[in-house]
Amino acid sequence: MTMHLYPQLEIPNTLAAGPGPGNTDPRVLERFAAAGVADHMQGDVLRGMIECKHMLRQIWGTQNTYTFAVAGTGWSALDSMFSAVLPGDSVVAFANGTFSGIDALTLRIKASTRDELAANPQDPQPASVNVVEVPHGRSVDTKTIDTALALHRPKWAFMAHWETGSGRINDLWAFSEACQRHGVMGLVDAVSSLGVEDFSIDDFPGIVGWASCPQKGICGLPLTYAPVSFTDAYIEVLEERGAYTYAQHPIFEARHWGIIDGQDVEKGSYHRTHSGYAVASFHEALRLTLQESLPRRAESYRRHEAVLRAAVEAMGCKVTSDMTSLVVLNLPDDLAGREMELVQNCRADGFGIWPTLSAPVQVRIGILNQLDRGAIRKIVLLFADAIRALGGRVDQDAVEAVLDTHYGTSVAA
Ligand SMILES: *Cc1c(COP(=O)(O)O)cnc(C)c1O
Repeated sequence: MTMHLYPQLEIPNTLAAGPGPGNTDPRVLERFAAAGVADHMQGDVLRGMIECKHMLRQIWGTQNTYTFAVAGTGWSALDSMFSAVLPGDSVVAFANGTFSGIDALTLRIKASTRDELAANPQDPQPASVNVVEVPHGRSVDTKTIDTALALHRPKWAFMAHWETGSGRINDLWAFSEACQRHGVMGLVDAVSSLGVEDFSIDDFPGIVGWASCPQKGICGLPLTYAPVSFTDAYIEVLEERGAYTYAQHPIFEARHWGIIDGQDVEKGSYHRTHSGYAVASFHEALRLTLQESLPRRAESYRRHEAVLRAAVEAMGCKVTSDMTSLVVLNLPDDLAGREMELVQNCRADGFGIWPTLSAPVQVRIGILNQLDRGAIRKIVLLFADAIRALGGRVDQDAVEAVLDTHYGTSVAA
């Protein structure tokens, strides 16, 4: 074997204007790079983790003791949350896009018996899981939730809060309420909503498990910690029945965050080798959210999403989403069918927008941590250029008028 030494890896700075990951805040990267070498049981690393746990409870509005973060990405948190679902458990899962579709697949894997898994290992169809498919572009509504839970009366129910695939918000109130009414334990994918929407976990008592991620509303892309929160009722089920995982077992993983036997303790105990760099950057991401405050951040997302929406509508696009961090749209009729081409052109130029990952093909433009006039203007103008490059027409004056109307003609953002 001859040795080949590759040159150092250079990664360019692109404009992350998709559904996620978002634009990592410079403060978060600065803390990552400034952390010293320290092992996972060093005092400040452990203290940082305990502080993160307390900050997470504030941001998520919860008294759940089992609120901490799972090492990894959104799927790591979701896997941890779904670990309480055992083979043969009855589940109803609502799917209205790519991500809730993958969540439903995870649930089908977890709830399968050995025979059901062996019959179709990558796409099992266990008899105990009912997946309620809601068409792309629509939200899961009260009636759909209530009908399915009343009919099946499962042990577990699942829904995504914000379905990032289609950009749709699902009704958490209705979900929590129906779970309570039918005696079902609710599990929620809150990967896209945490840090963007102002909501409190404790207002939704029907929901026993929550999972999120570092790279969207929390602005912590040095992929570190994926927040989770579990009620005592969820933890009791785990205590009674266990789970088939060590690394992402909610009770085991919580120990390093100083949660042992349902109590906060002064110091965490070893679960896995955490990185001081990761802890420091996650800590700064949480401080950032608390400093700016969640109500203010949520308001800022609403305001800037409205501008982006109006600007792309002025270009003749049709918006089908209702999330505030993301706009999902159809191109003007004369460009229909060329969504993928447009997205690829943009990405080749470092303008990181996205297509939908499941049919129908649409364009997704996100504004995670791009919450000022200059950033939104840049996104709008780059998108207008991309439409023109495909031969589409954009009325520049109409687009400028939208920006001026929303932001005012003064220079201030
Ligand atoms: C992004 C996303 C995920 C996956 O998160 P990763 O960080 O890529 O693991 C899951 N669910 C939803 C709703 C998402 O938006």
